[in-house]
Amino acid sequence: MSEHTFKGGIHPPERKELSEHCPIKVPSTLPKTVSIPLTMGGAPNQPLVQPGDDVARGQIIADNAHPMGVPVHASIAGKVKKIEAHLVAGNTEAPCIVIEADGSGRESFLPPLDPFTATVEDARKRIHDAGIVGMGGAAFPTHVKLNPPKGKVIEYVIANAAECEPYLTVDKNTIQETPDRLIDGMLICMHITSAPKGIIALEENKKELEPLLAQTIVEKGASDKVSVCMCKTKYPQGGEKNIVQSTVGREIPSGGLPADIGCVIQNVGTLCAISDAFRLGKPLIERALTVSGMGCENPQNIRVPIGTVIADLEGETIKHSDDVVKIISGGPMMGMAMQSTNFPVQKNTSGVLFLTARETDVSPESPCLGCGRCTVYCSCRLTPVMIVRSLKAGDTDAAIRFGLLDCVECGAWSCVCPAHIALTQHFRIGKAIVREQRAAAMAKAAAAKALAEKEAAAKAGAPTQAAPKGGN
Ligand code: SF4
Ligand code: SF4
Repeated sequence: MSEHTFKGGIHPPERKELSEHCPIKVPSTLPKTVSIPLTMGGAPNQPLVQPGDDVARGQIIADNAHPMGVPVHASIAGKVKKIEAHLVAGNTEAPCIVIEADGSGRESFLPPLDPFTATVEDARKRIHDAGIVGMGGAAFPTHVKLNPPKGKVIEYVIANAAECEPYLTVDKNTIQETPDRLIDGMLICMHITSAPKGIIALEENKKELEPLLAQTIVEKGASDKVSVCMCKTKYPQGGEKNIVQSTVGREIPSGGLPADIGCVIQNVGTLCAISDAFRLGKPLIERALTVSGMGCENPQNIRVPIGTVIADLEGETIKHSDDVVKIISGGPMMGMAMQSTNFPVQKNTSGVLFLTARETDVSPESPCLGCGRCTVYCSCRLTPVMIVRSLKAGDTDAAIRFGLLDCVECGAWSCVCPAHIALTQHFRIGKAIVREQRAAAMAKAAAAKALAEKEAAAKAGAPTQAAPKGGN
């Protein structure tokens, strides 16, 4: 058994057998319209098109000039029908650009670019221009991740191929089908960050991929710098904190980043998208995802244009039973429970699950039993019970002291908490409150500073008061 592991963690039922032997397929019939969220990671975008415009596949349709901004591209060729609020992952509404296919298949890709002769700035710009964000879930802008703060030396690029979420098998199948894209993307990231070493982190339940990866590494002439690390199968192995602990034995400091300890971590899909952006000039306009769950009658891995609405795939492509009690966008641990299937595939949608009462607990929350199990299993070594108690008491300072901001929202509690307390949900709300409090404090400080500056300027500009005349 692998010694590459981390403290804590759990072993939820994997249920990967439902789809792991399903190669990634493009559905025989794709919906005629897509609803593409204006922003899918990074700073909020503005639309660059309006209803009635004709767009080509790969054309930029939304963007912004912020350094954290990431453009969004048309995933099909057609006509913009409308820009409207639509249900998206997280059960919120967000503005989406609705495009109806015209059947022309017109494309507007970038010209191919050799990543190894381009300047590092041009290479990062290509990743930005291709609209690439982390496809494993967080949707963080990739060009920003590949531009670590000044003074940080990157030693390792780690390919996060753990795919530790139950049910999901899309990364495994991606590696199996196109290992060369993965290694190419990794070498590009190593080139951009000047990292001398690359590590592909697999969980032991994907052992059979090792020879294929080893062979591809040799074929790419990278055996002196890229290696495979077989990590213990344990949830959440794929969390950034855990994967660096398991692969290089380093710990990300509280509130820190992987770059603080010389690491950059990229998901399998992201690395493949990076390769495509250079070799094909292809923006991030489609993605593969797992469709699974015991309520899904035909579990599979599919590749669809970004913006494909899941409800539009039901019937011909996705069939599910009537006893589905939960629909999830993403994996069962960190994914979002959705009120319906009327939501689009986004750049970070790794899966859609149809779960029955046999595999998910929908029991209501009951009072905390104080059993401490959540603390034992927390891979971040936090005390979740104290965080949630502090939040319930409205004491965000105490919640922060107990580790609220270090929680990676892995959802491991869901398998161990006998009281069914939705800890992650409480923590997400708690973090949002802290963000709001900090934003309000910053705004107050900025307003006070502006007032002080105004007063100082007024004082400096005021005529000097004459000294009072008078005798002694
Ligand atoms: S959700 Fe947060 S507190 Fe709970 S186990 Fe995961 S990291 Fe720890
Ligand atoms: S596992 Fe649940 S019941 Fe036990 S201490 Fe943690 S929050 Fe309370």
